[in-house]
Amino acid sequence: MFDYHIHSTFSPDADMTVEEACLRAIEAGLREIAITDHMDIDAPDNPYAFQIEDMNEYIKELEKVKAKFKDRLKIKTGIEIGLQDWTLDQASHLAANYPLDLIIASVHLVDGQDPYFGIYFDTRDKIKSYTDYYQTILQLLEQYDDFCVLGHLDYFRRYSPYAYDPEDRWIGRELVEAVLKLLIDKGKGLELNTAGFMHYSKQPHPHPDILKLFRELGGEIVTIGSDAHSVKYVGYENKRALELLRYAGFEYITAFTDMKPEFIKI
Ligand SMILES: [Zn+2]
Ligand SMILES: [Zn+2]
Repeated sequence: MFDYHIHSTFSPDADMTVEEACLRAIEAGLREIAITDHMDIDAPDNPYAFQIEDMNEYIKELEKVKAKFKDRLKIKTGIEIGLQDWTLDQASHLAANYPLDLIIASVHLVDGQDPYFGIYFDTRDKIKSYTDYYQTILQLLEQYDDFCVLGHLDYFRRYSPYAYDPEDRWIGRELVEAVLKLLIDKGKGLELNTAGFMHYSKQPHPHPDILKLFRELGGEIVTIGSDAHSVKYVGYENKRALELLRYAGFEYITAFTDMKPEFIKI
């Protein structure tokens, strides 16, 4: 089992060390994990910058734990890059200059607003809260290639004040399809992010039917990530995620080394 989205104390909002994450992963029976700390370049709304302060130190720490746990756990060096229009060159620079196994491309900000803060929804009704977010992903990914998978496709939903209806999965369908097709054209993948199970919708990011649509359109690359920021969520709902992948028509999960995909039968 894999958990390809884990935050350590290199992210300002996480409270487990890399080593604690690894120990928990072993305890939870995972065979492979990726540590994917935040790199949100120029995040305007956040009281503190969501960035790894020292990339060299980060890489060094990952090398240390890889050696320490080498017989018990495969550990990959990743980052979760938060994209904005004006930070794409800096994001590419990171990808080119550090030995990374995995880059998750995520959108946390729409016009400088993080849905985490209520103001995003103050100015948008339910439909617009979906379509503006998807439109932003589409615009950013059209301009950006240095990543492996798109993270939490409907991230904003975690913080939505609007009542959830299962039919909401199809809001903005044309935009979602355009995003999925773009990923496929670029040879990129989609993440199944299990943090969504904590939401009152009890649905992962994205909804399993969107994952199925990705498969039907020809998508092959898929990862599972808990988005754990503390020890108890490492491997969160991993088994359920694997079942959903099968439901969506996937027979393989994807592992990454040096940004290259490898398909592993599930
Ligand atoms: Zn994220
Ligand atoms: Zn994350």
